[in-house]
Amino acid sequence: MEALQPSGSFKLRGIGHACQHYFSEGAKRFISSSGGNAGIAVAYSGRKLGLPVTVVVPETTSKRAIEAIEQEDAEVIIKGATWQEAHHYSLDLTDSGSVYIHPFDNPLLWTGHATIIDEIRRFNLHPDAVVLSVGGGGLLCGIIEGLHRNNMSNVPVLAVETEGADSLSASLKAGRHVELDGIKSIATSLGAKKVAKAAYDWCHKHEVVSHVVSDIEAVDSCLQFSNDHRILVEPACGASLAALYNPTDFVKDKSSILVIVCGGAAVSISQLESWKRELSNKANSTDAKGRSADQQG
Ligand SMILES: *Cc1c(COP(=O)(O)O)cnc(C)c1O
Repeated sequence: MEALQPSGSFKLRGIGHACQHYFSEGAKRFISSSGGNAGIAVAYSGRKLGLPVTVVVPETTSKRAIEAIEQEDAEVIIKGATWQEAHHYSLDLTDSGSVYIHPFDNPLLWTGHATIIDEIRRFNLHPDAVVLSVGGGGLLCGIIEGLHRNNMSNVPVLAVETEGADSLSASLKAGRHVELDGIKSIATSLGAKKVAKAAYDWCHKHEVVSHVVSDIEAVDSCLQFSNDHRILVEPACGASLAALYNPTDFVKDKSSILVIVCGGAAVSISQLESWKRELSNKANSTDAKGRSADQQG
C-alpha cells in the first residue's frame, strides 16, 4: 500500500535511498525535474535531510502538484513547454555541490524500491506473482532486484501499462529497446517514452509478462478502489488494479498475488470523475462514427 507513503507514492523508497547516499557523500543540494511523484519525493527527502531542493517543472504542471512540492519547502522553477526542456534546464543548474535525482534510471533507486520485497520476505509471504505498473521501469527494476536478493527469482511479474504510454510493451513487441513518438495517455506518471535499458534487459532474464489496459479501465479501477479501500490513487496505479478488477489470464490461476499499489499524489475524486466523463464521451462518439460508417458502407 505505497499510496500511504508520506510522499503519496512508492517513489520515496528509491529516491529516499539515493538522497541518503548522496548526502553521506557530501551533497549540498538536490535537483529534480519532475512535477509528479518523483519531485515530491525528492522535496520530502531534502527536507528530512536538511538540504535545499530545487524542482524544475514544465509549464503544463498542475497548480496542485506545484503546491505539493512547495509544501515540502522546495523551490519550484517553472521552465519550458515540455519535460525535456525542464530536464535540460535542471541539468544546467546542477553544479559540483548539487546532485540531480533521475526519476527512474538510477541503480540507487532500484535498490531502495527493492525494500518492498525485503518486507514481504520478513512477513514470510510467498506470492505466486507480482502485479505492478511500468512508467520508466524503475519500480520494475527494483521489484525484480528485490525478488532476486530474497531468493524469489522464480516469481513472475505482470508489468502493466496504459495504451499510449506502453513503451515497455512496444519494445518487447519490436524485439528491441524502442522509444515512443509521444505519450497519449492520461496516466502521466507512466509517461516515459522509453523505459530504462535495465528494465528492458530484465525482461530477458526474469519472467515478465506485459499487459496493456485502456485509460478508462485505469480510471474506473481508481474509482472502484476508492470505494473498496477508501484510498485515492492515480490512473498510473489504477492500471495495475485494472489487471485484477478485470482479471487477465495471467492472474486467473494464481492464488496469492502481490499487487504494488504504487499510489500517486496528483489526483482527486473530481479529477477522476471528469476523466471518466471525457473518456466515456470520446468512446461514445467513436462508436457513433463507427456505426454511421457501417451504415454508409
Ligand atoms: C513513477 C510512478 C510509476 C511508474 O514508475 P517507474 O519507476 O517510472 O516505472 C507508477 N505509478 C506511480 C504512482 C508513479 O509515481
